[in-house]
Amino acid sequence: MKLSGGEKLARVIFLGTAGSTFSGRNMPPSLLVDGGVLLDCPAACPYVLATMGRLDEVRIILLSHLHPDHSLGVVELLWHLWIRGSGKRVEVVGPRGTRRFFERMLEVLHPEKFETILSHGVFREIGPGDTVGNAKAFEALHTVEALAYRLTVSDRSLCYSGDTSPSEKLVEGFAGCDLLVHEATYPPGMEDAALRDGHSTPVHAATIALRAGARRLALVHLPYARLGDVDEEYLRAARAIFKNTFIPKPFEEVTL
Ligand SMILES: [Zn+2]
Ligand SMILES: [Zn+2]
Repeated sequence: MKLSGGEKLARVIFLGTAGSTFSGRNMPPSLLVDGGVLLDCPAACPYVLATMGRLDEVRIILLSHLHPDHSLGVVELLWHLWIRGSGKRVEVVGPRGTRRFFERMLEVLHPEKFETILSHGVFREIGPGDTVGNAKAFEALHTVEALAYRLTVSDRSLCYSGDTSPSEKLVEGFAGCDLLVHEATYPPGMEDAALRDGHSTPVHAATIALRAGARRLALVHLPYARLGDVDEEYLRAARAIFKNTFIPKPFEEVTL
């Protein structure tokens, strides 16, 4: 399946940039890419897309892993498609166990109809090195099986780390990308704690961007709910290593 429907991959909208839980009007990470590609789908993501009038664009969801801050919106979306009487099916791509994960949830939430609701998803489980259309998956280093992605159309590329600690495989996978969207869950100075927890700091993310030769770095999965507004501290730490770093605002649109 073509990810872009033959169109040029040009724009990315940051639907959410918060880490682990929502904060203010900001939900956990999710990106809508031209061509109906959604990278991660936290709770309320379908609602946010609906408020933008863009829910129907979504054709394929690439899940980095199955932690709730990245996946719960898939249940809402499948439910919505079923209730609405839509014949639409959305491709749901993720690591091993993805189909069973949503099947178990829907079995509990709606035992009589879970198979019908589930049928609105076309599930595909992939591993490191696998490609789906114009996306390639890489191994991420998290507390559960997790994937990073690289999306390429013509000469442009978008990479997304999901939740991860730094690794050589990611440096290779992200090599030369136009935009690297990387998590920075822990604040600068907490590098050891981040590594123990399968996460990164802005120092880690900037180092990966520098080593990979990325053109731009966007930091997401920031701990606003726990630490408040960390943008200034994060930018200072990251830009000392990789100058072309920014922190996207919710609904910010970036051209690749
Ligand atoms: Zn997360
Ligand atoms: Zn996680």
